[in-house]
Amino acid sequence: MNCRRAQEWIEAYIMGDLAPELADSLEAHLKQCDACWRRYEEQKRLIALLRRVFAVQRRFL
Ligand SMILES: [Zn+2]
Repeated sequence: MNCRRAQEWIEAYIMGDLAPELADSLEAHLKQCDACWRRYEEQKRLIALLRRVFAVQRRFL
């Protein structure tokens, strides 16, 4: 897998939307690629933050 493909899949992976066999190859890539791993960590933090914001909004709407 190349980095471009990996980065396309990272978001779906975090959301749990990535097919298991794709998730496996993405995980393998993340383990050996620092750049994508950092990107993954960043995305994960961002999505966790967004989820918290939306959860708060739902409570007040
Ligand atoms: Zn990579």
